[in-house]
Amino acid sequence: MTAPTLPTDDALRDAAPRPFWTDRSDAPSPCDPVGRPTRCDLLVIGGGLTGLWAAIEAVRADPGRDVMLVEAQQVGFGASGRNGGFFSESLTHGIAHGVELWPDELPELLRLGRENVREITEFLGLEGIDADVRLCGKTAVATQPHHLPALDAAAALNVAHGERVEVLDRDAMQADVHSPTYLGGLRYLTGSGLLDPAELCWGLKRVALARGVRIHESTAVRGMRSGRDAVEVVTDGGAVHARQVVLATNAYPPLLRRLRLRVLPIYDHVLVSEPLSATALASIGWADGQGLTDVGNQFHYYRRTRDNRILWGGYDAIYYFGNRTDAAREQRDSSHRLLAQQFEQTFPQLEGLRFTHRWAGLIDSTSRFTPVFGTAHGGRVAYAVGYTGLGVAASRFGARVCLDLLGGHDTERTRLSMVRRKPVPFPPEPLRYPVVQATRAALAREDRTGRRGAYLRTLDHFGIGFNS
Ligand SMILES: Cc1cc2nc3c(=O)[nH]c(=O)nc-3n(C[C@H](O)[C@H](O)[C@H](O)COP(=O)(O)OP(=O)(O)OC[C@H]3O[C@@H](n4cnc5c(N)ncnc54)[C@H](O)[C@@H]3O)c2cc1C
Repeated sequence: MTAPTLPTDDALRDAAPRPFWTDRSDAPSPCDPVGRPTRCDLLVIGGGLTGLWAAIEAVRADPGRDVMLVEAQQVGFGASGRNGGFFSESLTHGIAHGVELWPDELPELLRLGRENVREITEFLGLEGIDADVRLCGKTAVATQPHHLPALDAAAALNVAHGERVEVLDRDAMQADVHSPTYLGGLRYLTGSGLLDPAELCWGLKRVALARGVRIHESTAVRGMRSGRDAVEVVTDGGAVHARQVVLATNAYPPLLRRLRLRVLPIYDHVLVSEPLSATALASIGWADGQGLTDVGNQFHYYRRTRDNRILWGGYDAIYYFGNRTDAAREQRDSSHRLLAQQFEQTFPQLEGLRFTHRWAGLIDSTSRFTPVFGTAHGGRVAYAVGYTGLGVAASRFGARVCLDLLGGHDTERTRLSMVRRKPVPFPPEPLRYPVVQATRAALAREDRTGRRGAYLRTLDHFGIGFNS
C-alpha cells in the first residue's frame, strides 16, 4: 500500500535541493584554483563573510600586502550564502545574553556592534554593492501563553540599553502580520534589519579582487604546518607559503584540532516559497516586511525576499555524531517536511503555496553562542569561528579581531573578555552526541511547558548552552 500524500509533500515536490540566494544565472564566474606552489603575506582560508572581510580589511590597512584567499568551493558556498539574511548589530547573541556574560563590557560591545553595522552599510554604499539592505528591525512573536512575560522583560531590557521597541498584544500583532498562531509580539524598531546574503558575498568578492586580493576557488586546504618563516598550507594544486593565515572556515572540519572541542556543527534547515501573488500578500499583511522570529528555544526565522517569496527557516537544528558534515546532510526530508507543516499552521491562508528551494546550512555553535577567537602556530595563524547563527554582520568584527591578533595589536577589540577568553569546551565523543540530544530534549520540554528544568539550570550555572 502506498503512503497517503500529505499537502506538505505537494508543497515540497518541486523544491530544488539548493540554496535560493546563490541559485542565480548572474552568479560571478569562479576564480581558478591554486595551480602551483606560491607564497603570500597573508592567506585567508574560507571564502565566507569572515574571510572576505579579512582580505578586504587587510589590504585596506596595508595596500602593499600580498593577500590571497582560498575557498574549497565557491565564495558564499557556506553559511554566508545560505542564511536568513538577518543583519543584526548584536555581537553577544542578544542583549539578555550579553548582560548575563559580560555585564561590565556590554556598553562597549553594544557600541562596537552598532558601529560595525553602520560601517558595513557605509562601505556597501561607497562600493556600490546593492545587497538589498533594509534596516527595518524585526518582530519576535509569542505563540504560547508562557512566551508573553518574556516579551515584556525583553522590552524593558532593550529600552534600558537604548533600543526602540514596541510590545504588541494579540490583536495588534495579528493586525500587523495575519497569523492565527500569534498571541503577541515585540517589535524591535532598531538594532537589526535584512539583506540579501549572496549579493553581499558577491559584492565583497568583487571589491576584494579589485583591490588586488588573489582569490582561488575550488581549492580545499588539506593541512597546515609551521615552517621557519612561514606557514606551509597544503592544497591539491601546490603548497602556499604564507607569512600569516586567517582561518575562516566556520563549522567545517577544522584545520586546528583544538577547534573541534569549541565548535559544534549544527545543520539548520530552510525553505523558500514561490513569489506570492498580490492577493496572497494582502492575506498576510506584513506591510513593513520586517524579519520575524518566534520566541522559543527551537525557533523559526522568516522573512520576505526582494521578489516577495517567504524564506522560512530554523527549528530543526540537527547535530550528527562525531561532528559529521557532508553534502548529503543538506537535504533531510523529515526536517523539511516539519518546516513545511509549521509554515502551513502559521499561514493557513497560503494553502497551496509551493516551495521552490530547500536546503540546510552549517551553524557554528559554541557553548556561549559567540565566537571563539585565538591564534596558533606561534601567532602566525588567527581564527574567528562560532557565530552560532548570528554572523552576517558579526563576521566583519571577527575578521578585524583576527587581523588585530596577527598584528599583535592591543585594540578595543582584543581587550574584550569575549576575545581573550574561550567558551567552555563541548565534551568529546562518544559523550557529545548524547549530551546534545539530552539538551535538545530539555529545550523542547521548556518550549512546551514554559519551565526551565533542573538540567538546563545546571548548564546555565556553568555557562553552557545549545543554540542555533
Ligand atoms: C541556515 C543558516 C541561517 C543563518 N541565518 C543567519 C541570519 O539570518 N543572520 C545572521 O547574522 N547569521 C545567520 N547565520 C549565520 C551566518 O550565516 C554565519 O555566522 C556567517 O555566514 C559565518 O561566516 P563565515 O565566513 O565565518 O563562514 P562560512 O560562510 O561558512 O564560510 C566558511 C567557508 O570556508 C570554506 N572552507 C571550509 N573548510 C575549508 C578548507 N579546508 N579549505 C578551504 N575552504 C574551506 C567553506 O567552503 C566555506 O565557504 C545562519 C547560518 C545558517 C547556516
